[in-house]
Amino acid sequence: MAEVNIQFPDGTVKQFEKGVTVEEIAKSISISLAKKAVAGKFDGKLVGYHDALEQGGSIEIITKDSEDGLVVLWNTVAQILKHALHNMYPKMKFGESSATEHGFCLDTDNADGQISEDGFDKITAEMNKLIKQNIAIEKIMVPVNEALSMAEGDEYQTALINENAVDGQVEMYQQGDFKYLGGVQLPATGAVKVFQILSVAGAYWKGASSNPMLQRVYGTAFYKQKDLDVELERRKEAQERDHRVIGNKLDLFFVDPKVGAGLPYWMPKGATIRRTIERYIIDKEVADGYQHVYTPVLMNLNAYKQSGHWDHYHDDMFPPMDMGDGEFLELRPMNCPSHIQIYKHHKRSYRELPLRIAEIGMMHRYEKSGALSGLQRVREMELNDGHTFVALDQIQDEFAKILRLIMDVYKDFNITDYSFRLSYRDPKNTEKYFDDDEMWEKSQKMLKGAMDDLGLEYYEAEGEAAFYGPKLDIQTKTALGTEETMSTIQLDFLLPERFDLKYTGTDGEEHRPIMIHRGVVGTMERFTAYLTEIYKGAFPTWLAPEQVAIIPVKNDLHLDYAKELASKLVAHNIRIKMDDRNEKMGYKIRQAQVNKIPYTLVVGDNEKANGTVTVRKYGEDEQTTMAFDEFVTMINHDIETYSRE
Ligand code: ATP
Ligand code: ZN
Repeated sequence: MAEVNIQFPDGTVKQFEKGVTVEEIAKSISISLAKKAVAGKFDGKLVGYHDALEQGGSIEIITKDSEDGLVVLWNTVAQILKHALHNMYPKMKFGESSATEHGFCLDTDNADGQISEDGFDKITAEMNKLIKQNIAIEKIMVPVNEALSMAEGDEYQTALINENAVDGQVEMYQQGDFKYLGGVQLPATGAVKVFQILSVAGAYWKGASSNPMLQRVYGTAFYKQKDLDVELERRKEAQERDHRVIGNKLDLFFVDPKVGAGLPYWMPKGATIRRTIERYIIDKEVADGYQHVYTPVLMNLNAYKQSGHWDHYHDDMFPPMDMGDGEFLELRPMNCPSHIQIYKHHKRSYRELPLRIAEIGMMHRYEKSGALSGLQRVREMELNDGHTFVALDQIQDEFAKILRLIMDVYKDFNITDYSFRLSYRDPKNTEKYFDDDEMWEKSQKMLKGAMDDLGLEYYEAEGEAAFYGPKLDIQTKTALGTEETMSTIQLDFLLPERFDLKYTGTDGEEHRPIMIHRGVVGTMERFTAYLTEIYKGAFPTWLAPEQVAIIPVKNDLHLDYAKELASKLVAHNIRIKMDDRNEKMGYKIRQAQVNKIPYTLVVGDNEKANGTVTVRKYGEDEQTTMAFDEFVTMINHDIETYSRE
């Protein structure tokens, strides 16, 4: 018998008979490993537990407690779902199926009616039947003709079989009589322990909106009940925090693909939040020495050719507009070339440096339709953008100054969970980067020096710098724990070169400035999505679209007094919501809570007689009666200190 060399992750090599399975390899190591093993990774590719290995290579045993172990489970449960649905609806057609980030999904097209949540119990019962029978799952090679005739009438499976065919054969799996296409599977249906069908939603065949809409069924599964419980809890939390759900409930914004996918409409309440953020950040930046400008969203395409964006980035840009007279206009995907025009508009001297140009700049990016999500990823966005032009020896101070601004802003928004990632060029591969060793060496040292002076902890990522310069990313965590870059400070040696930027130095000679791109709160869209999720829609008073709900106990007796208070609050720039509907008081108080309004004032006989208000804070049951003026002082203090109390 021929033998093959199998290498293990620790580097050791063992010989096995040709055709050895992952199971046999696992057993040769230890019985306890074989018990936990569900599949293998052979030369980096997932393989089934019983797949025969016909040649030598490297192996990793995939156990239940690994991420790949879950992928194999999710692949399998997706197919048990397909099998169950096939038994229940023999005419059902099947699109793609796959493991997802937290489970699996299967696309279906049912001529005999739609799948609905009411039907999940029946589907689950049918799946459990298949699991109880512990049907062996075997990999088989099927001649394409045979596979196509099995799929007759199902145009999706027909297409998938053709795509997967190799040399007239297609790799499939078999569970009893049921044969199907699928990812690497567990050895038998009985290996599935806990699973849950979660939801159903529309999805286009192959994700293209020109294709038919199918029904995508989502589910998840784990090897242990406890892990399923954790996942269900995570999903519940995600639902509660999902900015799209909250945005809809609180009427903050909407996106309607019929009038433009990825192009959000900000309703008055959402617009108020955004305007508050915009004013805040502009004031903050002006106070920090930035000159705020307005520049057009359209620009001659040549500017993006000169900047290099067109070469490297055009897949993410909207197609140029041919104006018919030889001019091509482009919707800008970033603001840097615009701010460069501002710099170039005057002759610059060393006395003006660091020169800080900023803008809440609107940009357009052609994001893939499948990637669009609420305000988190859109196609039209406004970036809190800024570019500082500095001399080489000013980098460290300017970098530190920007960083202090960012941390100051985070404090005001109560963003506490963040970390720093400093990216350098790859020292072993310097030819990949902008060619100026001295500039790289000096500037990297300065960034590090600034971080150390500020006493900050940071992660150093060698080889993660952009081609044009080193950078610092500030990573925040979303409410659900995924990391996201919120702010960034990026040095750029290249654009000043490309646009031939200059300043006159103390020596009277011309020098090249360095450009620093920096964003503090990112785009208004993504930042608002982020805030909505961290605050669960309960915005702190200074950001809340409605800050005070005023509820007269009886309209006929107390409305006048309520209106008097309202106009005094409005005079203090406080945003009020007068609830003078003819509804019960308890109902109105609950509504103020549902709308997450920070303060509710109830005014009746006593309040009117004494010039007081009865105040209830959002999320609290107790209420306090105080003089109206005292309330004004309190809420103003809240707003001025960005308080979240
Ligand atoms: P991503 O990797 O998320 O696509 P990026 O690295 O392309 O972002 P930058 O070019 O650095 O992002 O853009 C600056 C900021 O713009 C990002 O930090 C993010 O806040 C925001 N942003 C980028 N793309 C989008 C988008 N499609 N929708 C909303 N905000 C966006
Ligand atoms: Zn820029």
